[in-house]
Amino acid sequence: MTQQPPLTPAEAWAELEAGNARFVAGEVEHPRQGIDRRAELSGEQHPFAVLFGCSDSRVAAEIIFDRGLGDMFVVRTAGHVVDTTVIGSIEYGIEVLHAPLVVVLGHDSCGAVAAARHALVTGEMPSGMIRAVVDRVIPSIVTRVPTGAGGDGSAFDLEVPGPAELGRQHLRGTVRMLANYSHALADAVAEGRCAVVGAEYKLAEGRIEVVEIAGSID
Ligand SMILES: [Zn+2]
Repeated sequence: MTQQPPLTPAEAWAELEAGNARFVAGEVEHPRQGIDRRAELSGEQHPFAVLFGCSDSRVAAEIIFDRGLGDMFVVRTAGHVVDTTVIGSIEYGIEVLHAPLVVVLGHDSCGAVAAARHALVTGEMPSGMIRAVVDRVIPSIVTRVPTGAGGDGSAFDLEVPGPAELGRQHLRGTVRMLANYSHALADAVAEGRCAVVGAEYKLAEGRIEVVEIAGSID
């Protein structure tokens, strides 16, 4: 028989940290991926975490946390950019499925962040739908500025940080944006039913690092 799923934000985060530690060490267990687990889940699901991450092919959620079927409710977009269906999916995970944790997962060397930085530095926007991604990364970059904006309508003196800091800034911005957009999430965090962890995945080491927390995982 399988064990009970984690019920608190702290327990859920501990499960993910343990799984990532196994992945980093190359000691993965591939838990809950067999025929019995598949059969057990055919009628219902009780994932213990919602993962909202970048679509990057190297940041595969269940693999890097060494988890299996039914463990994580996963939403991914390029650069973990937020839109209404993302919010709706996350709310489904916490309100209907009662997951006690939302993880926002960014990573180093993110192409979406690099594209947004390029647009800011050069003024050249990408064309087509890629622009929609860049459009949604830029707000988390520009909201904490500006240093030289005058009241005379002159241009912002925008300091664009390097790619690494920009990625973390975008991650922090996304965590805050989720709580701003979603009253359901903000309420769940305020009541201690849920926490949001913004974590950065290191492509080379496979390690995750906490960058931002809303609520408590202690
Ligand atoms: Zn990315």
